[in-house]
Amino acid sequence: MCGIIGILGDEEVAPRLLDALKRLEYRGYDSAGMATLEHGRIERRRSPGKIRNLEQLLRAQPLTGVAGIAHTRWATHGAPNERNAHPHKSGPVTLVHNGIIENFRDLRAELQAAGHSFESETDSEVIAAQIASGVQTGLAPGDAVKAAVARMRGAYAIAVLFEGEPDLLVGARRGSPLVAGFSENEAFLGS
Ligand code: GLU
Repeated sequence: MCGIIGILGDEEVAPRLLDALKRLEYRGYDSAGMATLEHGRIERRRSPGKIRNLEQLLRAQPLTGVAGIAHTRWATHGAPNERNAHPHKSGPVTLVHNGIIENFRDLRAELQAAGHSFESETDSEVIAAQIASGVQTGLAPGDAVKAAVARMRGAYAIAVLFEGEPDLLVGARRGSPLVAGFSENEAFLGS
């Protein structure tokens, strides 16, 4: 079983996200990744294999910012490579996902027909594209997530960041565990 973590904080999140991933390591995984939001822009780092590979990548190409999401993946759809590693991105939407979307093929075909392109083989990228499609039609980020997950069959826990929305971290779950935690100035999501 894989893991997700999200922090909407008031200090640098990358070291804390990395620490959280290490604590989830015992569950087993085949790749890991992280995205943070800084000055309204989302940057990602992803790496197949052990978390220490991601750690090395982050040392060479650090991520800054006080909001972020991270993931350890147990591949169900698509090989365990960098392209299929989470976080996945579509337009302004970046997300991590635990679980399986059973109807992702139909949804992907529908989104492709509407002009969305995909860079991975995962079911998870379809959730990102579906949320981005809602945002494109004018839905507020939270409503776009609600509309997207209403179309999904299967199990999911997701944590979502939106470009240009530095104070927002959205979580949703069905069939996969996800908890929300709050401190005075920060909010957390964890599987
Ligand atoms: N089904 C997704 C994938 O293959 C998520 C797997 C997971 O829960 O780590 O990327």
